[in-house]
Amino acid sequence: MKAAVINAPNAEVRIEERDRPLPGRGELLIRVHACGVCHGDLMLQMGQFPFARYPVVPGHEIAGVIEEVGENVSELRTGDRVGLSALFSSCGCCEQCLDRDEFLCSQMQFTGITQDGGYQQFMLAPAAYVAPLPDRLDFVEAAPLMCAGLTVFSGLRHAGFEPGEKVAVIGLGGLGHMGVLFVRALGGRVAVLSTSADKEAEARGLGAERFINLKTESASEALRTWEGGADIILATSPAAQPMMAAFPGLALNGTMVVLGAPPDDIAVSPMDLIMGRRRLMGSPAGSRKDLCDTLHLAATHGIHARVTPMPLDEAANALKQMHEGNIHGRVVLTMG
Ligand SMILES: [Zn+2]
Ligand SMILES: [Zn+2]
Repeated sequence: MKAAVINAPNAEVRIEERDRPLPGRGELLIRVHACGVCHGDLMLQMGQFPFARYPVVPGHEIAGVIEEVGENVSELRTGDRVGLSALFSSCGCCEQCLDRDEFLCSQMQFTGITQDGGYQQFMLAPAAYVAPLPDRLDFVEAAPLMCAGLTVFSGLRHAGFEPGEKVAVIGLGGLGHMGVLFVRALGGRVAVLSTSADKEAEARGLGAERFINLKTESASEALRTWEGGADIILATSPAAQPMMAAFPGLALNGTMVVLGAPPDDIAVSPMDLIMGRRRLMGSPAGSRKDLCDTLHLAATHGIHARVTPMPLDEAANALKQMHEGNIHGRVVLTMG
């Protein structure tokens, strides 16, 4: 089988021939059909995760079919359609795991960072951590839900989103465009903030009622004219400056959720925090329950990610294009 491998920080992605692995106790062998290319994969290549284990097969937006079932797996069968997120496994017995908040488990293993991920034709996964894929989602469309979709949905949930609320989405990349689609599906209103004027048509096409150009407008002033400000800001693009510029544009009691990790610190005025009882929070991907709810929501509301399929052989090129900022929506690798 073919696998795309990163051998060390800052190394190129290389295609290797490997033996197809055998599932052990409690494991599945998944025939990967599609794997999304996430900004996290680029961070992995650039050596930005100190806990990563090289050599590693990247990829944590996986959609495929069970090819083989290991011993002691009772709920799943060969031929079942499944998805896997960045949550590869967790300890299963700490307070966070018992509280269905496995992504905060200190023993968590990351798909495609500490364990081989989905940039390959077949992969092993613990049976307890895959999610059934609703029939209505095809593999290529489902893949970006495993990280981009899950991260925005979980972020909205933990920020206390309610239908009717106004959500400002900073950035219209992989996460951002899913953010607009999920907020609209959940009955919210959306403004998109972007540094590219040419994203306005796409933002409006996805369902945004406002577009704020970060290059020519004051983000906070523009948001405050939106009936008093945004109830939630989903900060998806990994740049601190737009987050700081937008923060005072939160409504009273509003929350900014940091989803994209900038290299710099995010500074906000204590008076903006205190006097408006505003919150600044971060949110990682999400739990197994969040993932199942994300997939269910996408299937029932017909949420379709904007995807560009590319063959696995193009993995290095996909990461290069992401590095250069030339990607619209989500690139999804297909295994052929
Ligand atoms: Zn990701
Ligand atoms: Zn745990």
